[in-house]
Amino acid sequence: MPRSEPIKAVRGVRDLLPRDRPLWRATERAAAEVAMRFGYQEIVTPIIEHVELIERVGEDTDAVSKELYRFEDRGGRKLALRPEATAGVVRAYFEGGLNQGPQPLRLYLVGPMFRYDRPQKGRYRQFYQLDVEAIGSASPALDAEVIEIAAGWLHESGISALALQLNSIGDDVCRPAYLERLKDYYRPLKGRLHADSQLRLERNPLRLLDSKFAQDQPFKVDAPRITDHLCEPCADAWAHVRRLIDAAGIEYVHNPYLVRGLDYYTRTVFEFYPAGASGQQDALAAGGRYDGLAEAEGWPSTPAVGFAGGFDRVVDVMAASGVEVIAAAAADVVVLADGGQEIAAAEVARICRRVRSVAVDYEAKSLAAKMRSANKLGARWVVMLSAEEAPRRVARLRDMASGEQAEVSWDEVPERLA
Ligand code: AMP
Repeated sequence: MPRSEPIKAVRGVRDLLPRDRPLWRATERAAAEVAMRFGYQEIVTPIIEHVELIERVGEDTDAVSKELYRFEDRGGRKLALRPEATAGVVRAYFEGGLNQGPQPLRLYLVGPMFRYDRPQKGRYRQFYQLDVEAIGSASPALDAEVIEIAAGWLHESGISALALQLNSIGDDVCRPAYLERLKDYYRPLKGRLHADSQLRLERNPLRLLDSKFAQDQPFKVDAPRITDHLCEPCADAWAHVRRLIDAAGIEYVHNPYLVRGLDYYTRTVFEFYPAGASGQQDALAAGGRYDGLAEAEGWPSTPAVGFAGGFDRVVDVMAASGVEVIAAAAADVVVLADGGQEIAAAEVARICRRVRSVAVDYEAKSLAAKMRSANKLGARWVVMLSAEEAPRRVARLRDMASGEQAEVSWDEVPERLA
């Protein structure tokens, strides 16, 4: 029985159609080129991971558990679709023995991520990230390096007006004392904070600083700033990172309210926005140092830094800023075969493919109709083949721009298309 309704895509996900791909391809290419120029190698990790890998390292975040796509496979394993790449990349770094060779390991990954978020413009349940990670070094020079890669990628994607926000959130030496200060500051104000923030006050006070609730905003300005309370190594690193970013000619603003909610994040945090973006707009890329993650996953303690950039948002900003990428035609050449000439047409196409992309129009349509289709496809040449010509191994080659047409032997066609 025919279905009454065709089956549509799953809520919150979307197709990237051929007409969408040129902009995507441009930014994907920029990502790989910039990463490789800095000596980063590509890694591919699975989309499915054990739920524990994601939840162990994401415990405590409201977001991670709520947004996680989790399922049981036929063997009863509890699995998740990865919501981000870092946990898997760190796992692969150890499992693949990448911790054995020269350090740091410089890795990049491009692929889909999944979050069961409320779908809206710019926020999808399947979205795509560039993930750049330098694992195995605590040097602040690498914090600056990944920031330079993010900036380079966005620039080469045609987004030149950028705003970089930067902060340090200390480490497990200086952060505990700072968090006590922060709690001391907020406790007398508790009754005036949003209900969610009241809960955070004891559990995750750092998150009060990036609260989006209107009623929390007035209290931020007088809150103690962690950059005033860093231990000496963290203060040195903070100064060092900023000097390096200055030297790279990258502008930034210090945003004392930029934080991460998980303990394994340390020191540098940063986010890139399109210049002039309102505070509510989501970042194009976000990253920082996560010296505690490897240990949280059960591996030896290993310092690392990286960022994740969102292709979906980058492509939106590219389109909105008028970045144009000339879309190549589906095929440079279209071979138009008369009825019954499929074998000959396929052979001519094979010859032409040595030098050009070639599609064959096998449809039972008039020559004029095929010519219109080839024109719409953007073909630069058309090769016409009739039942009379095929046995003589000749065809008519038409230059679509000039309209010039000539009889050519099959083997000469490639020269004419060069
Ligand atoms: P995060 O891993 O949350 O720090 O996000 C890093 C980047 O990924 C963000 O700056 C966004 O550009 C992008 N991103 C995160 N979540 C989504 C989503 N649901 N849809 C589209 N892009 C996203």
